[in-house]
Amino acid sequence: MKAVVYEGERNMQVNDWERPAKAGPRDAVLRVTTTAICGSDLHMYEGRTPLEPGHVVGHEIMGVVEEVGEAVSSIRKGDRVVLPFNIACGFCHNCTRGYTNMCLTMNAQQPHAAYGYAGMGPYQGGQAEYVLVPNADFNCLKLPGEPFDEWEEDFIMLADVFPTGYFGAELAHVGPGRSVAVFGAGPVGLMAALSASLKGASEIYVIDFIPERLEKARAFGATPINVRDGDPVEQIFQLRQANQALQQRLRPGEEKLKGVDCVIDAVGYQARDDQDYSRENPTQVLDNMVRLVNAAGHIGIVGVYIAPDPGAASDSARKGVFPLPIAEFFDKAVTVGMGQCPVKQFNEYLRDLIIMGRAKPSQIVSHRIQIDQAPDAYEKFDERIDGYTKVLIQFRE
Ligand code: NAD
Ligand code: ZN
Repeated sequence: MKAVVYEGERNMQVNDWERPAKAGPRDAVLRVTTTAICGSDLHMYEGRTPLEPGHVVGHEIMGVVEEVGEAVSSIRKGDRVVLPFNIACGFCHNCTRGYTNMCLTMNAQQPHAAYGYAGMGPYQGGQAEYVLVPNADFNCLKLPGEPFDEWEEDFIMLADVFPTGYFGAELAHVGPGRSVAVFGAGPVGLMAALSASLKGASEIYVIDFIPERLEKARAFGATPINVRDGDPVEQIFQLRQANQALQQRLRPGEEKLKGVDCVIDAVGYQARDDQDYSRENPTQVLDNMVRLVNAAGHIGIVGVYIAPDPGAASDSARKGVFPLPIAEFFDKAVTVGMGQCPVKQFNEYLRDLIIMGRAKPSQIVSHRIQIDQAPDAYEKFDERIDGYTKVLIQFRE
């Protein structure tokens, strides 16, 4: 079969790879129909992770079950499923509490396991024609319909970016009438904006510097804030101040709350050798978040911060230390949540929003490619050029 293989920094190749062997008693083999390239794959691509060359990548995966082990009871050959990117056992201390992002048994190195990712266990990725699904009863979400129907491109978002955006909104305590700002208009930030809208936020600002991505944010009902137009925090302060209706409903002291209640980081660590404004200083988003959040507000960090990165540009980033202005956090009594998304907590509900026509996450898709085009797509998605926002690799029969 063909598979996208990490062969070193900025070097993804499409190789011939052995098809996953017949499933073990609790496993399944999936024939992949659609898989996607994620911003998280760029941490490997740009060399921020210690991944050994020769690993099939890809953790956003859906398809049709090809075969199942004899102990699998809830999934059958022919079922259409999407895989949460976390691989979990379902039985450990963390899984039973819903923290499948912190499964204690599926990875000997640390409490995370995922397909095709550095440090996440031995599991091969799903940017390939077939993938092995460990512990298949727990690690599949069943889907209605047929491959490549009207929902295919929505359902693939359930593997990661839609639940992750939603998780960011949960961590930031987004709810009806809340004001929200999202740093990053990549797939995760856009899904956070959609989630904020589903959760009833009254104001949603999305901050980035890529016009095409900011336009997509507008389509989800958000106000785009372009960093190139000046300090994004000041821009939001000013927009809110200029809004007569907002100003007229002031309670005593409310004029001191210039920012928003809920802030989401969907950028993460983007540093190293890139000279771009946004990436020079990996703490910049963190600084901006604490300036922007109102007192007693909430911050959700789903952008990934990785350590150690021996090749990083700054000493602190090399060690994985990203200084947070902790005194200001304390002063403002801000709560902060972060981490990998426990996809299984949300994917079923989000699937049903898709089925009932209340969410259309596929609006972020910019490119549909065949697997042979993957190396080129990685390059362009990484450079964020030519409108590359969300790339789907599809296997049509
Ligand atoms: P992405 O990396 O392309 O998106 C990042 C966006 O941030 C880009 O549009 C970029 O232009 C923008 N950006 C960079 N610096 C900025 C700055 N200083 N201010 C504002 N915007 C800035 O792709 P993505 O798929 O959306 O991933 C975003 C982050 O989410 C990555 O770190 C990824 O690893 C992480 N992620 C986390 C989880 C999780 O479970 N927590 C899951 C998936 C992805
Ligand atoms: Zn992902």
